[in-house]
Amino acid sequence: MTIGILGGGLAGLSLGYFLKEKGYDFLILEKNPETGGLLKSVTVEGFTFDVGGSHIIFSKDKQILDFMVSLLGNNVVRNRRNTKIFYKGHYVKYPFENGLADLPKQDNFECLYYFIQNLIEKEKGRLKQPTNMRKWFYYTFGKGIAEKYLIPYNEKIWKFPLEKMSTVWVERIPQPPVEDIIKSSLGIPTEGYTHQLYFYYPKYGGIQALAEAFEKPIKDKICTSFEVKKIKNENEIWVVSNGKEELEFDRLISTIPLPELIKALEDVPKEVVEAVNGLRYNSLITVGIGLDNPKLNDFSWLYIPDRDVLTHRVSFPSNYSPYVAPPGKSSVLAEITYREGDEISRMKDKEVVERTVEDLNRVGIINSDEVILTTIYRFKYAYVIYDIEYRERLNVIEGYLRDIGIINTGRFGSWEYANMDTVVRMSTGIVDEV
Ligand SMILES: Cc1cc2nc3c(=O)[nH]c(=O)nc-3n(C[C@H](O)[C@H](O)[C@H](O)COP(=O)(O)OP(=O)(O)OC[C@H]3O[C@@H](n4cnc5c(N)ncnc54)[C@H](O)[C@@H]3O)c2cc1C
Repeated sequence: MTIGILGGGLAGLSLGYFLKEKGYDFLILEKNPETGGLLKSVTVEGFTFDVGGSHIIFSKDKQILDFMVSLLGNNVVRNRRNTKIFYKGHYVKYPFENGLADLPKQDNFECLYYFIQNLIEKEKGRLKQPTNMRKWFYYTFGKGIAEKYLIPYNEKIWKFPLEKMSTVWVERIPQPPVEDIIKSSLGIPTEGYTHQLYFYYPKYGGIQALAEAFEKPIKDKICTSFEVKKIKNENEIWVVSNGKEELEFDRLISTIPLPELIKALEDVPKEVVEAVNGLRYNSLITVGIGLDNPKLNDFSWLYIPDRDVLTHRVSFPSNYSPYVAPPGKSSVLAEITYREGDEISRMKDKEVVERTVEDLNRVGIINSDEVILTTIYRFKYAYVIYDIEYRERLNVIEGYLRDIGIINTGRFGSWEYANMDTVVRMSTGIVDEV
């Protein structure tokens, strides 16, 4: 049996890795000249940037975490997170609810007051279960934390009305115990989101080194620069074409984004096409900045809810590993989401870079006189948007794929907010089933 794997991002590569271990015959078809998908790192004049967005290796799933780290061998460093929210010029410890004492006093008071008031209302049964993301922020954290940070930040990253987003994603956010909120307000140190407090990162080569580690033993089973354009089933055989060449497989596993997969299939029922057309996602721009500064700061990354700053998150790769910047230099990676057709999507690359540097200089995160290099990249598929109707649509699509016998997995192949650990875990599950 020959298995065709569509897409050579982490999902495709990890599937290949595990299929090889089990002795299966397979071929990965990847449209780009290189594999890795979002795990792409680019090195320019000694600066390595993760151009698919800042990626760190962490997980609650110890088995998968240990496995990913072991694949990197000696090429790995372990860091303690030092992440902040940049709020009205203050560096507030992350997660925000664990850093209330870093806020101006009045803001700190309002966050604590509304959190407690909200808790009392909840205890008295006066609050209804939230039905969308916006309501969930108020329900879980109260008006202070919701309006000062969670709502502006989430509006900025999602570029989608929060009242039209489901609570599926936010329900993953750990809910802090009331003691922690009080301690945080008083300035007694607490930690939130603890499974990410320590994280791993490749010493050399950026996050692409992880994709390369998966790729190494299966290099001869990958066909790059092959864009899947047409898929048909002829007498139980899958025929996959890039418009020039046809390849045949007994089974197909797709990790390519669902809209791309459905577009390539023949005679897709109308309701499935409509469901796919209704799926929402965000695209991503990353701006890499090289600085002539030996130590810009000690931060891992910063969240920026401020609407006047274009980027919502900046990370500092040279703080993840000193080997991803030339000696004596620092690096910054800014992330900007957009949706096709919006104002940002229409901005020229040069404008985005200039605006990013200007904004970061204005708020004091960098000094633009120290900028020695910039890069810019765009990724069409970056974040799945969990709008209210998303689950219904996905059910229709998944039902159809099950009927025709195509397995779908990966971040956009399964249309889930899946981090690397989840993607690798999904691959182990699929390989057990094949
Ligand atoms: C900004 C950002 C930050 C992140 N940070 C983290 C983090 O810190 N830690 C973490 O664990 N995870 C993180 N993630 C998640 C991580 O990137 C994903 O879990 C992982 O990369 C998903 O891999 P994938 O193979 O499913 O998808 P992709 O990487 O999107 O791969 C899909 C592949 O399919 C190919 N393809 C598409 N269409 C076709 C076609 N028609 N024919 C052939 N090939 C095709 C693409 O070129 C691509 O290579 C982050 C994601 C983003 C966007």
